[in-house]
Amino acid sequence: MADFEIPALKEYPVIPPVKVGTMAHSKPFVAKPEHQAGVGYPGELVDNWEEKAVTRLGELVKGSRALQVFLDSCVKCGACTDKCHYYLGTSDPKNMPVARQDLLRKVYRRHYTFAGKLFGALGMPGLVGAADMTKEVLDDWYSYFHQCSQCRRCSVFCPYGIDTAEISMAAREVMDSVGLGQKYCNEILGKVHKIGNNLGLPEPALVDTLEGLEEDVKDDTGVDVRFPVDQKGADVLLVTPSADFFAEPHIDGLIGYAKVFHQAGISWTLSSYASEAANFSMFIGSGDNLKSTAMRIRQAALDLGVKRIVVGECGHAWRVAYSFWNTLIGPFDFLDPKYPVPQHICEVTYDLLQRGALKIDKEANDHRRITFHDSCNVSRASRMGNIPGGQFIIPREIIKSVANHYFDMPANTIHESTYCCGGGGGLLTDDLMELRIKGALPRMEALQQVVEENDVNYLCAICAICKSQFTKVLPYYKFPMDMIGSLHQLVSTAIQLK
Ligand code: SF4
Ligand code: SF4
Repeated sequence: MADFEIPALKEYPVIPPVKVGTMAHSKPFVAKPEHQAGVGYPGELVDNWEEKAVTRLGELVKGSRALQVFLDSCVKCGACTDKCHYYLGTSDPKNMPVARQDLLRKVYRRHYTFAGKLFGALGMPGLVGAADMTKEVLDDWYSYFHQCSQCRRCSVFCPYGIDTAEISMAAREVMDSVGLGQKYCNEILGKVHKIGNNLGLPEPALVDTLEGLEEDVKDDTGVDVRFPVDQKGADVLLVTPSADFFAEPHIDGLIGYAKVFHQAGISWTLSSYASEAANFSMFIGSGDNLKSTAMRIRQAALDLGVKRIVVGECGHAWRVAYSFWNTLIGPFDFLDPKYPVPQHICEVTYDLLQRGALKIDKEANDHRRITFHDSCNVSRASRMGNIPGGQFIIPREIIKSVANHYFDMPANTIHESTYCCGGGGGLLTDDLMELRIKGALPRMEALQQVVEENDVNYLCAICAICKSQFTKVLPYYKFPMDMIGSLHQLVSTAIQLK
């Protein structure tokens, strides 16, 4: 069990009193020089790092009008203060979004505003909310910018739409650029660049795993459902989080996708070169890595000659694909214009269900009483289908098409107000377990409500990070670990292949 106090579940929402500095000790492991080298950053804190950090910050502000507006426009109204799950779970005031922003904003003010320069020169930068870049400031950055899952919930409630996630990404990029990176993200990105997926799973192991899945599905159903790799000329390239290849509950989702493609008669393939949908570069705010990681997918689509690219259940991967691919790695004029680029697996399944192309037995899911966790990046940074709010409607409509018992969590904890699972934004690492458990509190409180009122026993998600995070934290809050599952696991259960 944990060597820190697990928060007690309360009736949601209770805003906790402030406890200064309670999470100052929380810091992820620092990247080693080899991890830094894998993503093109200096291996350790460089000489003159204070000056270089300020210079890099200036470059980022110059390159992003949005970042500058976010840094200039906060009026300290306080509307965001109780909106972050990490504040609600830890009581640390530096986990209030405005306070988190101010860690970076004060350095920006000091060096890039007239008042900051003037009062800084007079030795009184604090009078105008400005501060020099010091080791103490850097320590605070490393701690608290790794206590932001970049979920964007605070921005929904800010009257100016200030997006703390963008500020947190900028802070991580500045730290990386002076040699202070986070091990978890940077090591993983190195593996993607080298091998093609977050796990470092080489092609033979991937092929082996998929052959094993074909045998499992055959044993279960008596039907030959294929899991093809590198099949040239297939219609669909599926890119999915590599967690789908090896672990529960992810793998059940992959089986669901394969059954959908099989029954609809859609030829599809995975790629051993681009065997990863996730793109952790977004978490560290690195445009170069974002592009080179995504470029593998474009290259795989070209090499395999596919007509469509479909993205599996992964929240931030869908954001990267939906929001950035076009300008990052487009144009996609070599794909079939009849289909959107990219297309989410939920859009594919929803469309087939609408057209009656899938044979479904809803009763097969009758042992499940289901609720749905809206993942942050899907909810607040993307869309599905051609309808406003499609990212909320489509997953729920799929669930209701394949199961009889569905219940939403409280309205102020779903859709665009959804709470992060507590492990997003590159924080899904065991060295941040205390933060992850405490940050999951608001979601656990909302879950408790539907468990008590509706006997919910299945927490459905469409994000690999959410699924992994809940697998770890559910037991700490006395829920069964296996109540978290994929949306396509529900589809897989209900689909009648014979
Ligand atoms: S983006 Fe999410 S994690 Fe970050 S400060 Fe805002 S609410 Fe908190
Ligand atoms: S809600 Fe927006 S303007 Fe108000 S304090 Fe928070 S970041 Fe600043």
